[in-house]
Amino acid sequence: MAYLLDVAILIGDAELARCCAQHCTRWPLRRWRGEELVRIMEDNLQLRAEIREKDVLLAALAGGLELEHLNSFSWASEVSLAEAIVRSADAELWHRVQGLQLQLGPWPAHEDYNYMAEFFVECSGGQVRLSWERLHRAKKAGLALSSSRARAASCRCQRCGSSPWWFLFSLLDVAILFGQSDCARLCGPMDIEATEDTLKASLEATPLVWEDERVCEFCGFCGWTSFQIRITDLWAESIASLPERQAAAAEALRTALQASVRRAASSAGFGLFQAMRSWARGESVPTAVVELVLAFAANPPSLLQALQGREGELLPGQLTNS
Ligand SMILES: [Zn+2]
Ligand SMILES: [Zn+2]
Repeated sequence: MAYLLDVAILIGDAELARCCAQHCTRWPLRRWRGEELVRIMEDNLQLRAEIREKDVLLAALAGGLELEHLNSFSWASEVSLAEAIVRSADAELWHRVQGLQLQLGPWPAHEDYNYMAEFFVECSGGQVRLSWERLHRAKKAGLALSSSRARAASCRCQRCGSSPWWFLFSLLDVAILFGQSDCARLCGPMDIEATEDTLKASLEATPLVWEDERVCEFCGFCGWTSFQIRITDLWAESIASLPERQAAAAEALRTALQASVRRAASSAGFGLFQAMRSWARGESVPTAVVELVLAFAANPPSLLQALQGREGELLPGQLTNS
């Protein structure tokens, strides 16, 4: 039966592969490698997943191949095949995968230093943007996007001249930087961990070059040295105006606050409403009061903390408990 499962995968017959897998106690004899099915390419600080053998990949997924072992190393991270499909530009393939009704998650969170957000970056007519469509698909698929980062700026040690790492932006930072309110609206409820640049991207003039004190791993010097940080040329021309960036940040903050109140409501649940009814001695509690209590009970979103008390500049007069 193992041979038959091999054949089913090779000819790309998902139905047969699934059927074989149900009767098969051993894994296929052929060792499948991720690179045979998916290739991760990099171009101008954008990552692309190119799916090579779609039918074979679908049959392998349907046959329950141990996909977590089939990783493609893409620069700073490993990507599972299933994740590559979600992050690829191939909407039709993702549609077919959904048709197989497989359990693909839980999705792995990536280490802090990764370039995974670059799967959503696209460039057309000299303008760099996030692809709303791909971001939307990844969010619906439940991908762990809050740790996804993109290379936004180069860092150069002023002492030894080496560039040991990139300056990374979160998906939310990128959406704000490019003034993409629609993408910021998707990012808000994900409670993306704010980076040190979220505040600057949201509320301040964005310089293209600035200096920062860091520890350089190449100098062999224990103290802090000065780094020159420079926004990549490709991105520099796509940075939105301050009002556009503020509008995008406001949209993210509004949806982040709504989501945290919703989370508070679902965890407080019935007990809270019972308590409020008893305080109100059986009278109905006004919705506004319920909302106010929930807003106090909610955990503040990461974005709100990042704004360090300046959230009123984005949502004037709408914040009650800050
Ligand atoms: Zn150095
Ligand atoms: Zn030392």
